Formats: sequence, C-alpha cells, structure tokens
Amino acid sequence: MSGKLFSRLSDCFAGGDGGYARRDRGGAREAIADDARHEAFVALKQALLDKRGCSPDEVRVIAGILDRAAADIRGMAVSHGAVRPGAAEASAVPAAVPAAAEGVAPVRAPGAPDGASSGARHQTMRVGLEARRRELTVSAVGHLTPGMLRVEFASPELATFDSRSPDDHVKLFLPGGVMRDYTPRAFDRERCTLTIDFALHDAGPATRWALQAKAGDRLQIGGPRGSRVTPDDFDWYLLVGDETALPAIGRRLEELRSGVPVITVVVVDGMAEAQQIPTKTDWTPHWVCRDRASGSDADLLLRTLQGIDTPPGEGYVWIAGEARISRTLRDDFINRRKHPRQWLKAAGYWVQGAPGSSEKHDD
Ligand SMILES: Cc1cc2nc3c(=O)[nH]c(=O)nc-3n(C[C@H](O)[C@H](O)[C@H](O)COP(=O)(O)OP(=O)(O)OC[C@H]3O[C@@H](n4cnc5c(N)ncnc54)[C@H](O)[C@@H]3O)c2cc1C
Repeated sequence: MSGKLFSRLSDCFAGGDGGYARRDRGGAREAIADDARHEAFVALKQALLDKRGCSPDEVRVIAGILDRAAADIRGMAVSHGAVRPGAAEASAVPAAVPAAAEGVAPVRAPGAPDGASSGARHQTMRVGLEARRRELTVSAVGHLTPGMLRVEFASPELATFDSRSPDDHVKLFLPGGVMRDYTPRAFDRERCTLTIDFALHDAGPATRWALQAKAGDRLQIGGPRGSRVTPDDFDWYLLVGDETALPAIGRRLEELRSGVPVITVVVVDGMAEAQQIPTKTDWTPHWVCRDRASGSDADLLLRTLQGIDTPPGEGYVWIAGEARISRTLRDDFINRRKHPRQWLKAAGYWVQGAPGSSEKHDD
C-alpha cells in the first residue's frame, strides 16, 4: 500500500487532521467526518482489490479502521435510518469486537479462503511477495541443540527480503538441482541476514549440505512467494509438531502478542532438544520425548494432546511434521474435538520414505 494512501487512511480514522478526529456533535463537523469516512472506505477497498501487500503495522491499523468504521456506519444506519453511499462496502464488515478496536484484528484479503470465520476476528490475510532468487553466503554455523543446526546467511540481496508469516518457507537450491523447503527462522533487513534451522536426520541432500556448511559457502534461495498471515487475535494458540516445525513455532512464539496463552507440543529425541525461546506470550511448552516402547510419534502426540485442556475462548491450532502424523492429528482435532476447520492449519513438512516431498492438508 502506498505511504500516501496509508497515511490518508490513518488520518481519517486514527486521530490525524483528516476529518474523523474532528468529529463532534456539531452537524457540519459530522458531515466532514462522513465524507472522510466514505473517502477512506473507497481508498481502502481499492487497495484491497489491487491486492497490494501491507506491512504488519499497516494491517493492524487498517483492521482497527475497518472495525471502528463498521461500528460507526451501523450506528449511522440506525440513527439516520439510511446508509450513505460507500457504506454498502462497509456493511459487509462484521461487527466490531473490543480487541479489534485496539487494532489487532487483521483484514481478510480478496481470495482468502477463510470466509467461514466468525465476525471481524480471525481473518486470515494473504500477502503476495516478490518470488526472486537470492544468492547468499554462509556467515555462521552452530548447533542450537545436538539435533538442530543453525545456519546464518548474509547477503546484500537480503535488504529486500520479506516474510510476513512464521510458517513461510524459502526454497533452497542445493547442488545437483535439488530443492528443499525451509522456514525463514529469523531475518534482519538492516544487517542483511537470514537464519535457517536445520533439523538433522539420517540422510538427505539438505541435511548433508547443512552438516558440511561453513562460513563463506554460497547457496541460492527462492521466495517466500507469499505469506498467509494468521491473525494475532485468537484467545489462545496450540502449536504442534516435530523438529521440522520448531523453526516456525519458535518464530511464532517470538512474534505473537504479549500475554496470549500459547501451548506447544513438540516431539523430540530427548530433553536436550528442548529449546529456550524468547517470547512475551504466556507459553506452556510440552516436550514429548520419543520412546519407541511407548508408541509412535503419532501415539505420543495424541496422548499428550488428550491430556491438555485448552484455555477458554477461540483458539488457533497449527500442526506440522511428518505428513501422515500431522494428518492424523488434524483429523483428531476436526472430527473428535470438533475444532473449527477454519481455525486450524496442518501441513506435512516431510513424508516418510519420500525424499523432497511435502503435503498440504487444506481439504
Ligand atoms: C513449508 C516447509 C517448511 C519447512 N521448514 C523446515 C525447517 O525450517 N527446518 C527443517 O529442518 N525442516 C523443514 N522442513 C522440512 C524439510 O523440508 C524436510 O525435512 C526435507 O525433506 C529435508 O530434506 P533432506 O534433503 O534433508 O531430506 P530428503 O531427501 O527430503 O529425505 C530423505 C529421507 O529422509 C526422510 N526425512 C526427511 N526429513 C526428515 C526428518 N526431518 N526426519 C526424519 N526423516 C526425514 C524422508 O522421508 C526421506 O526418506 C520444512 C518443510 C516445509 C514443507
């Protein structure tokens, strides 16, 4: 979204000099407010229809604008008995909720599939990003835990790198024309760095490459092509998976708002794999240690999940790991626990016995 449009929207609704802030009981000023509101709605609708990307801060401000404006227009319709031109768009916006008034509920972009969400809350936003290739240089390699290798890359080309969602992925272009997907665990546009965490396993070109990586090595990456941004307005979050899910889980823990309850359930080889992750959330970690005698990863995760009472309110469940396991967990949440399908995302980050494969469980 252009800076000009964004500042116009903010001015109209967030206390600037654009009209809304000047609203009072006087009729003339009310008319100015109405015009400003109408103009902002048209501008906002155009921005959304253009499918331009927004920064997370812009998303928050726009969400607040929409919710407050929707509530106001609904009030106008009641008090004036009619709705102004332009309010037709606004009347499609569901009721405001207190959290949204503080600007934490995101906007649903055109084409987003989550139309079943209730109210103005929980609207997923899709953001298209420039899907270019970048040539990176390894700047540091080190073990985060015995089984997790952290590789930091640097490149001036990272000055334009963007990733809006913790579960985004980049493609690694490995020697021999092999491609594998990995999570941008962290990035710093000013320092032009990108961090990727590799969960080490027995065999595979990506794992081999990471194990041999040293400062100065080069690697090309592609993407992320886009982000599917899950709103930071759920009452709680439950994040489940194996080691391959940990980079996305770690990033989400770092990015979610202060004090929100987050439960993580991650199956690992042993407690040496438990990570300390800085977070402002109210985080309850469950590290589930593999133990073949007690059952498969799926059994262990299911059993652990059965013993967890989720907090009250509306929650978001995110699952990633081996494809069959994440599907089993997803089915359990939807069919047995009756968790709303649109508040759950599950993905197979790898497929047992199938190199370079992944699965989306969107159906
Ligand atoms: C969106 C997305 C994001 C991802 N982010 C990350 C990330 O940040 N960090 C990360 O470590 N992984 C991540 N993964 C998973 C990673 O892409 C796969 O594990 C990938 O298969 C590893 O490639 P490889 O070359 O090492 O092994 P492959 O050549 O793909 O596989 C070789 C063999 O190993 C098995 N295998 C693959 N992965 C594992 C594993 N983790 N444990 C045990 N066996 C395995 C395969 O079934 C196959 O039999 C992500 C996947 C997706 C789809």
